Amino acid sequence: MTDRKDALKLPTQPKVFGFYVDGKNHGQGHREMSERKSPGHGVPVTRAPLCTKEDLDNAVNVAKNTFQSGVWSNISGAERADVLLKAAAGIRDRLEEIAYWETLETGKPISQCRDEIGGAAGHYEYAAGVARTLHGETFNNLGDKMIGLVTRQPIGVIGLITPWNFPFIILAERIPYMLAAGCTIVAKPAEVTPTSTLIMAEILTQAGLPNGVFNVVTGLGSVIGQAMAEHENIDVLSFTGSIDVGRRVLLASAGNFKKTCLELGGKNPQIVFADADLEDAADGVVFGTCFNAGQCCVSGSRLIVESSIAEEFEKLLVEKFAKVRLGDVLEPDTQLGAIVTDEHQAKILSYVDTGLKEGAKLACGGEVAEIAGGRFIRPTLLTKVTNDMVVAREEIFGPVLAMITFETLDEAMEIANDNIFGLAASIWTKNIDKAVATMRRVEAGRTWVNTTIAGGPELPIGGFKQSGSGRETGVYGVEEYTEVKSIHIEIGKRDPWVN
Ligand code: NAD
Repeated sequence: MTDRKDALKLPTQPKVFGFYVDGKNHGQGHREMSERKSPGHGVPVTRAPLCTKEDLDNAVNVAKNTFQSGVWSNISGAERADVLLKAAAGIRDRLEEIAYWETLETGKPISQCRDEIGGAAGHYEYAAGVARTLHGETFNNLGDKMIGLVTRQPIGVIGLITPWNFPFIILAERIPYMLAAGCTIVAKPAEVTPTSTLIMAEILTQAGLPNGVFNVVTGLGSVIGQAMAEHENIDVLSFTGSIDVGRRVLLASAGNFKKTCLELGGKNPQIVFADADLEDAADGVVFGTCFNAGQCCVSGSRLIVESSIAEEFEKLLVEKFAKVRLGDVLEPDTQLGAIVTDEHQAKILSYVDTGLKEGAKLACGGEVAEIAGGRFIRPTLLTKVTNDMVVAREEIFGPVLAMITFETLDEAMEIANDNIFGLAASIWTKNIDKAVATMRRVEAGRTWVNTTIAGGPELPIGGFKQSGSGRETGVYGVEEYTEVKSIHIEIGKRDPWVN
């Protein structure tokens, strides 16, 4: 139980941040500011500048000049690793502070934030290793007079646009890999969650990252984000967010043919076979629905369950959903956090209405909960859903689970793959043959067997189909931010062409 003596308190007034360019804080008091109210409490907690396009141009110039100077792009992997390891230690030192602001800006439960910040440090540690092992290839099979090399070099300046739902961990799934590759970065956090990105900039500077390698420009996506996608001096755009904005930035990136790495939405199937451990599966499905209040790209929002166990499974889910702890997000026991904005809450509830109008049945939830002045939605289960309904096709991004039944494995696969998204999928079965067969056929970039939303830095993440392109994390996550160069070297005297 919570020890009330240790309970965290809300700030008495909003904390003011600047934006961060060339190793320094700028802009407090000299820009229009945006104010963030805590989704879990409804009171103002932070303020950050709404930067201008000129601020962005300046940051991109700094990042470009820094890249060209070689202070980061030309140093050894060992030196980069040293900074990344110090940054990991810096994150662990400031874990409580980062978790506090992250909870206040996102509405996540504090316990989840603490886990995520600790997990983030692990990404910097892992990427430090990759910085040292990154290498190319040699071709010693080109005959006596020729040797071939394939080298990797950093691409250049990266524009990094991140969403509000995992501000710090998504940053950690990108920055250390980009830095390990030797790139420089201009980041734009979501307008409602800038703080942990700004703290990370300070940590990196303190860890010894040269000024100008990592820069943060805060502000509106429609202004700063759009200008980043269009920018002639940004070489790569790493965008994580919604499918609609993803399409827009892809088109805007065409101006200078910049490389795009897109991590977009999902409508992720949880396929439950009758031979699964149903207690485990129900627990996993409830977690996959409620984690981050369902505001999670890999949320297991589409339950595809074998009809012979559907009734029993529904009962288990309703029992478990009722036990999920809603509460003040600053309390360590709280499991289900708040909804990010009023508009988003209205959108989630309107999806539930649409589902009911389409013929789905409400097994539980579908309503708001009044807690600590914040906005919350109770875990919601819609049954009798068919895969053609809006609630089965679109990303709801809330704690809402749509339940569909199937008779055969082929039918389960057809339902699972009949969607524009292909981000993640979970399979629940104790039959190894079935697990492997299903995994092979499912169209998704991140997959789990008998678990969900698990993993760390080692494995790559990214989507199939309209869930995006490119891969982050793992060795792949560093390679993504390198250019590959082929080098042919002739040995000895040239055979003359001109005789
Ligand atoms: P969003 O698309 O509204 O915003 C994402 C970012 O884009 C924000 O920083 C925003 O300011 C910026 N932006 C807005 N308009 C822009 C424009 N015209 N040009 C450039 N940038 C612009 O997404 P969101 O609501 O913040 O996040 C939720 C979405 O992100 C969901 O769809 C979710 O599935 C997706 N997501 C995907 C992953 C993944 O790894 N695949 C991870 C987390 C979230």
